[in-house]
Amino acid sequence: MLHHERLRPPIHDYPADEWNIVEKRFHPEFLAQSETMLALGNGYLGMRGCPEEGGPNAENTTLINGFYETRPIVYGEEAFGFAKTGQTILGVTDSKTIKLFVDDEPFWLSNANLLSYDRRLNMKSGTLDREILWETPSGKQVLITSRRLVSFANRHVAAISYRVTLVNAAASLVISSEMNTSEPNAFDANDPRQTKGFAGPVLHPRTSYTKDRRIVLCHTTEKSCLTLACATDYSLETSCAHAHKVAYTENFGQVAFTIDTRPGCPIQLTKYIVYHTSDKASPEELCGRTEWTMDRMMVQGFQQLLGSQEQFMDDFWRRSDVRVKDVREDRTKRSTVEIQQAIRFNLFHILQASARSEDAGVPAKGLTGQAYEGHYFWDTEIYVLPFLIYTSPRIAKNLLTFRYKMLPQARARATELGHRGAMFPWRTISGEEASAYYAAGTAQYHINADIMYALRKYVQATGDEPLLRDCGAEMLVETARLWLDLGFYSDVKGGKFCINSVTGPDEYNTVVNNNAYTNLMARENLSYAAQTVEALRATDPDGYNVLVHKTSLEPSEVEAWTRAAERMYVPYDEKLKIIPQDDSFLDREPWDFRNTPPEQYPLLLFYHPLNIYRKQVIKQADVVLAMFLLGNAFSPETKKRNFEFYDPLTTGDSSLSSCVEAIIAAQVGDTEKAIRYGMAALLMDLADVGGNVKDGCHIASMGGTWMMLVYGLGGMRDDDGVLSFWPRRAPEENAILRFPVTYRGQMLEVEISQENVEYTLLQGESLAIRHETEEIQLTREHSRAVRPITGR
Ligand code: BGC
Repeated sequence: MLHHERLRPPIHDYPADEWNIVEKRFHPEFLAQSETMLALGNGYLGMRGCPEEGGPNAENTTLINGFYETRPIVYGEEAFGFAKTGQTILGVTDSKTIKLFVDDEPFWLSNANLLSYDRRLNMKSGTLDREILWETPSGKQVLITSRRLVSFANRHVAAISYRVTLVNAAASLVISSEMNTSEPNAFDANDPRQTKGFAGPVLHPRTSYTKDRRIVLCHTTEKSCLTLACATDYSLETSCAHAHKVAYTENFGQVAFTIDTRPGCPIQLTKYIVYHTSDKASPEELCGRTEWTMDRMMVQGFQQLLGSQEQFMDDFWRRSDVRVKDVREDRTKRSTVEIQQAIRFNLFHILQASARSEDAGVPAKGLTGQAYEGHYFWDTEIYVLPFLIYTSPRIAKNLLTFRYKMLPQARARATELGHRGAMFPWRTISGEEASAYYAAGTAQYHINADIMYALRKYVQATGDEPLLRDCGAEMLVETARLWLDLGFYSDVKGGKFCINSVTGPDEYNTVVNNNAYTNLMARENLSYAAQTVEALRATDPDGYNVLVHKTSLEPSEVEAWTRAAERMYVPYDEKLKIIPQDDSFLDREPWDFRNTPPEQYPLLLFYHPLNIYRKQVIKQADVVLAMFLLGNAFSPETKKRNFEFYDPLTTGDSSLSSCVEAIIAAQVGDTEKAIRYGMAALLMDLADVGGNVKDGCHIASMGGTWMMLVYGLGGMRDDDGVLSFWPRRAPEENAILRFPVTYRGQMLEVEISQENVEYTLLQGESLAIRHETEEIQLTREHSRAVRPITGR
């Protein structure tokens, strides 16, 4: 069955709501999914959306980006240069649990008589809010309201405001607030996408202590030598009589508040949670830092934390919100609200995955789950960075700088594989290659060009020449060296520059010669490196000398890169008039799609790799992705022919596929497929399209939805260095699509309706853009331009 045929209109159970993902009742059958979807995070710290009571849960984890343990990768048969050390993100000390006992009766969702239930991910305020009315077996009604946040302004901090009110009776209450450093979870070993477990404990206690109600637990990992300190503290406000008891061990902390409540007398408990991690600081020092942060939070209080969270979210939405609007009188049209909700859900989770990820990357699942072991892939540069570059360039800069910091390991990896230059890891946390399956891992050399592609986009959109000079140029030199070393001029291919034995984005065709995507992206990488070095030499001799010093660059190298770029081999099939995905792709036997039942997807879980590799079947957009990323290099006819050839062969077994297929489908005029793929990408997580949302959100696809809207519908183009637009009509009748983009420090808003597109300079002095083929200069005085949509 073909990919688009398997994509039924995705459905989900969340009521349409522009700003919230609302659970109207407790769904025990969707525990794992809702933990992922209602997870909170700030790019450094992430908490799955488990109930306050800590359970029932599927995976009650708290994650810290880049906090991992290593383990040897054990191969049945070794070979030279295989990655040796696996890295796995760890669930850290969990500290969000608050248990409630009313007259000794525990409150537990699965057996509680819930008179009302409302839990919502509030994307406007950046909080997870819950309100429950519980009737105890003895008929006492208890109103429990809580608000949880993982702070954006204070990256080490989370807080929970927890309020209990007995409605109709007095009762004895115990609120037991806990911290727990537990053993790592066990995971399904049959699904290669899931994380790896550890046999024994990985967090080793170093110190634990209390000061009044404050508890501090500190642990270290054995092999990665990382230290974690976690502290909790409280404020309790109530006019009811109360007392508390503190208990702790090296892996557990508990403050039990006992309160004699009167009806209508609220108990307001605020739990402050602080995490610090380090690869250098001693446990004592880290505990000290944790306490400083905690002291500050206790003075600030929850209201101030909430205020800063709302402020942060307001700023984010001002810069990033993509709005769809129904202009008819009847504003209740469900699908518009649903689409708005899904768009915001995706953008919100990207923010949660990246905002404060300073000195770390963006894990494939953000901090919503442990699948893919918390590793960073090309997902960041190709799928997530475009959104960040145009809405939060500071975050984009941090992520590129983080890649730069990996350069020493990338150089060492290149040397290990006998290459010149630097070779970035396919998947990693520490900067070292952690991919155990080289065919669909290390062989994906394209990641080097992908990082450089994102660098170029960032520099063009921000004008951040200092980053290019201080970090970018060095990465460009080393990656260009890699490509030059990897490829060769092949007589068989008419003296063209060929790159053999690599894997492209499509992991169902591995270790192939001349993967078109790789060659095209390597060509960009080589010419951007040459241009950058030449420009530096011409305009900034000091900067150039520093670069030469850092890289021992020879002028002849630059000529060699230009030559390789000019002579790059790009496969072309005269008969089919398409770009073959690689040298052998067209020789392969077609996959029998008609007889592959829908339940046997993704193929990787049901077929030996060899059965897949020898057939013409594609996991995810490959040539089609190149046609999107390098759109200017392909004529509309070429795009159409290639899309029509590749689309029926693409399974979409990777969530990275649908968004790209949607964009190209729209560009080639296949509206039906554009909508199907588009909806699948938009609802990938909210409607659990891939069936594995339980393991974490698909952050790349979330970034892809922004690309669909802004590049796809908005027709934004930036591959020739000018910000240009060739918009399409808004998708639904009477609908308006409106989005902001930040370009070189200025903010532009683009509004697309059925007839017109309106450009408004919201912030800044003057901005030159292109509408279709017309240059438009927006200034403070002439800040608005309206143009008709021609519909192409
Ligand atoms: C995809 C890769 C992706 C990885 C992490 C795999 O299934 O094929 O392209 O980088 O998932 O998201």
